[in-house]
Amino acid sequence: MKHASEANDVGDLMSQCERNDEGERHPSLWFEDGNIIVSAKSAETQKLMLFRVHKSVLSRQSSVFAGLFSLPDTPENYGGPEDLSEIPTVFLADDAEGIADLFNILYGPQGFNLFTRKRNPDFPLQGMKLLKIADKYELDAIKNAIVSRMSTDWPKSLEEWDTIDANGALFEGNFIRRSDWPEELIPEPISAAILAKEGKITDIMAATFYDVYRSYRFINWDNPGPTGVDTSYSHKGARWALATPEHLRKLLLIQEIIDRTLAQNSPFVFLQGAVGEGIEGCQTAHICQPLVAKKAFEVVGDIWDSRDPLALLRQFIDWSNGSILCPFCKAEILDQASVTRTEIWEKVRRVAESDHL
Ligand SMILES: [Zn+2]
Repeated sequence: MKHASEANDVGDLMSQCERNDEGERHPSLWFEDGNIIVSAKSAETQKLMLFRVHKSVLSRQSSVFAGLFSLPDTPENYGGPEDLSEIPTVFLADDAEGIADLFNILYGPQGFNLFTRKRNPDFPLQGMKLLKIADKYELDAIKNAIVSRMSTDWPKSLEEWDTIDANGALFEGNFIRRSDWPEELIPEPISAAILAKEGKITDIMAATFYDVYRSYRFINWDNPGPTGVDTSYSHKGARWALATPEHLRKLLLIQEIIDRTLAQNSPFVFLQGAVGEGIEGCQTAHICQPLVAKKAFEVVGDIWDSRDPLALLRQFIDWSNGSILCPFCKAEILDQASVTRTEIWEKVRRVAESDHL
């Protein structure tokens, strides 16, 4: 056995060389007319998996593969079998599952199924592996597809957040199975936050971190118990085991800034005015004041319980709009609650996007 790295510059991609007859053929990525065999070790079984593919297909999309395959088919370059009538083999140090995902995409179209399901909560896990390989082999089309999938799945502004999160009402009281996660709902956030960072998908970081903050801390996404269901969208868990020290640091900061913002802004300060004399400037305080006081106390209590101030302040606005409050009080509630919501979103965004924590 010869080491490919001794023979060429790109040889470091091939950490060792194997004979064609070692390892297991991949059930679908083995083409009889393929002119190169790629072998890689399975992360699951630790066994070698063999892929018989075409240099032209791989080279067309990756300059790294093109460089690798531009070498003459000599045993020195590929280190494969001495008999040149056999097909050369390269061993790649990536795991076989990642390579299989990659080849499935290069040989499409069924490989693109990974990208077609909207808000698939498992996408970030597969996407992470794929992104590493795509980076290494300079497969820009795949990198772009990963970024574009995540960017479409996750809200990029408070307005988008409100639109998607409002779909939660459609599933209220429903038990949701993780494997059938509805495309209308925001999916698992910790794996998404990891992929957002690795893929430098900055515009979705605020949404992923706010969702981590409000996720139900007693439920582990991948181990929901014997029933395999979530309690509800509002009690959605997360992949807590994947959280990094950076996530913890950001989560603590987000908790702190949300607490402070709520303590300094409406409805808390605003409430104090509303409870006593009613909202300043209201001409029908005998009607508005008791209604606002009762509702605002509920909102304040719920905010601490749910850790979702954006939702509760939005509900406060909706309640106000549908109530018999005077126009002046409605406008005041809308203004105060909207300012607070925007402030929370912006502060969460700054922490989430920060690289220096
Ligand atoms: Zn009023």
